[in-house]
Amino acid sequence: MYKFALAGNPNSGKTTLFNALTGSTAHVGNWPGVTVDKREGTYRKTDEPVLVVDLPGIYSLSPYTQEEVIARNYILDERPDCVINIIDATNLERNLYLTTQIMEIDVPIVIALNMIDVVEKRGDNIDVKELERRLKIPVIKISALKGKNVDKLMERALESCKQKRKGETVIENQELRHLIGDVKIALEGQGVKDPLFHAVKLAELDELEVVMHEGTVSMVQNFKKTFSDTTFGDDFEGLVADGRYKYITKYFSPTLKRKNAEKFVVTPSDKADKVLTHKIWGIPIFLLILFAIFHVTFSENFLYLGAFISPEWVSLAGTPFEGVFGAGAINSPGVSLMGLVEVLTGFITEAVAGWLAPSPEWVQGLVLDGFLGGIFAVLGFLPQILVLFLCFSILEDSGYMARIAFILDRMLRKFGLSGRAFLPMIMGFGCSVPAIMNTRTLADDKEKIATIRVIPFFSCGAKLPILTAVAGAIVASANVGNVDLITYGMYLLGVLTALISVLLMRSTSLKGETPPFIMELPAYHLPQFRNLMVLLWEKAKHFIQKAFTIILASTIVIWFISHFSFHWEFLPDESIDQSILANVSMLLQPIFTPVGFGSQLSQSGWVFVVACITGLIAKENVVSTLGTLAGCLSLTFVGDESGVSAVSTMITATGITVPALLSFIAFNMTTIPCFATVAAAKGELHGKRTFNFTLLFWIATSFIVSSAVYVIGSWWWTSFIYLAVVVVIFLLFKLKKIVKRG
Ligand code: GDP
Repeated sequence: MYKFALAGNPNSGKTTLFNALTGSTAHVGNWPGVTVDKREGTYRKTDEPVLVVDLPGIYSLSPYTQEEVIARNYILDERPDCVINIIDATNLERNLYLTTQIMEIDVPIVIALNMIDVVEKRGDNIDVKELERRLKIPVIKISALKGKNVDKLMERALESCKQKRKGETVIENQELRHLIGDVKIALEGQGVKDPLFHAVKLAELDELEVVMHEGTVSMVQNFKKTFSDTTFGDDFEGLVADGRYKYITKYFSPTLKRKNAEKFVVTPSDKADKVLTHKIWGIPIFLLILFAIFHVTFSENFLYLGAFISPEWVSLAGTPFEGVFGAGAINSPGVSLMGLVEVLTGFITEAVAGWLAPSPEWVQGLVLDGFLGGIFAVLGFLPQILVLFLCFSILEDSGYMARIAFILDRMLRKFGLSGRAFLPMIMGFGCSVPAIMNTRTLADDKEKIATIRVIPFFSCGAKLPILTAVAGAIVASANVGNVDLITYGMYLLGVLTALISVLLMRSTSLKGETPPFIMELPAYHLPQFRNLMVLLWEKAKHFIQKAFTIILASTIVIWFISHFSFHWEFLPDESIDQSILANVSMLLQPIFTPVGFGSQLSQSGWVFVVACITGLIAKENVVSTLGTLAGCLSLTFVGDESGVSAVSTMITATGITVPALLSFIAFNMTTIPCFATVAAAKGELHGKRTFNFTLLFWIATSFIVSSAVYVIGSWWWTSFIYLAVVVVIFLLFKLKKIVKRG
């Protein structure tokens, strides 16, 4: 079977083309050893089926990111029969930069000139014949979205892969060509495959290449010495990149004939940008959009219609769906979906409870509290996690997030970060693990360390149940605020904590220049429904898998150690305060006194300590633990397993106050994140000291932030003391600067 690889820039339409080619045959795996998705599928319309492998989206074949290394090694080592290089025709020059690198490899290539529908709609034209002549590679105009010419592309690829192709370079600089030619001959002598590609990279002293051809490096240096000192300067990489761009502007750019070359065309995208990326209004609009997202996800008074409707219309009183879609007002889609899941889980719990009624008390406890209580407490939040994730994916796919990175660049710069750091941070709202891996795109090491440390403060999907459950319980029992406002406020608190800590780090231990931020903005486009659904499905699958493995195991362990004493005798629910778990946690309880959920709580107050600790394994555990323990604490607890009611039970059982509950959220949001995130951070932070300091930083931040929330929340006037401390720190910084200058 033939094997074709798809290579191209991010956003060039690779996924769309891949889906069009492979349809339902596609499957997703991982590239060996890394968490980058590897997609493969079969194209069946030719006589012989073709295996299509989707390489990660990349801008070049340099070894700066994991994606680049994967794509490069795949083409060089796995030797696909043909590389289909997909190009976004609306961004011809930038996309061809990658092409000039791939074409140096001895591999058959065809170019898929994608999004041609957009080019044609604008009335522009690309001279394909001229491009082909220059590149000596077949170029096919396609529209992956509309399926246009996709089969023709595959025909041309099949023809091409039957012929051998030698690598070619576009670098025209005479001396450079000479040097590369010498190195290439030397490599050919050693029997190296793809000698031209390796010769160019060796001349650049590319990291991977230097390791691979260690023996040849000194020879390359000697070749360089045969030219005069000033011929190349010392930035070889820059020189090569410059050579590529020169060729592209000289020969490739003119193949694009614009209809309105002289006139500056204002596209709808530009018009939208006038408003959305406005100098002053850009950030408030972004905050408003964020609030709208939280409103859709969390609000129990959707669109504030509560004032206009009568409670009977929506409460569905007397049916199993009572309160699902609203009580005094209409629930937002996120809350309604959550209500539906809770009806279902409540129904299951009741059925199981009825079924188990004749069995011994401990069996009922283990199944209802240990098994179901914990899992159902977190599963209920799956809809909200998905709604939130969907909204963020739409913002990202549409091209809006990239613009926010730009608007925020100016502001972030004041804190010592570039706009580029914003993208991994915002990814943190989904999950910290990929977000931390994404920091590889940050060129500056100190900026990267600072970013990794604050990513967990961008509250992830797994922390969402904590926020919603606690906020819901606050609203239900203390009758204050709206759930959406509380959650939004807590999310913003996380962001604020991140910004302040970055500022402190960048002006003390991680001082350094903030690198410039250059990025091409893609035009706005409607996200693809299918892609969004695939993303949602993956997210849901991951969450459910986690619920039935890690979280289930944790809740069962929690149930056992909360029902046995140190003498291994079984304790009924009423005596849970004498359990192993209670005794150990009570020892730790005083540590949490400054943050409001320590020794000041009444006898069962240790449950919050346990929740924080199990949260270190996975943050979903915080609520599932409370769910399991609530089942044991409240003796009348039947059927309703939702996280909200678990926290409500805890309020009654422990007497925890509202400020302490907010502090509990803040603590879990800013403390050491889950195992998976810690491991990812460890992988990215080089050096034991940096890593240990990071752990310490998380512990310290969580205590500082949550104690401030608790203290200010409990005694409002203490805010003046905090303010005074902030002012003193600020003045000290200023003073230090003045002394230094003086
Ligand atoms: P990837 O990042 O390279 O995988 O890019 P995607 O396949 O996700 O495509 C990026 C965006 O471009 C999506 O919104 C697609 O719908 C859109 N797109 C892809 N191909 C075409 C095309 O041929 N024409 C148009 N108009 N849009 C396209």
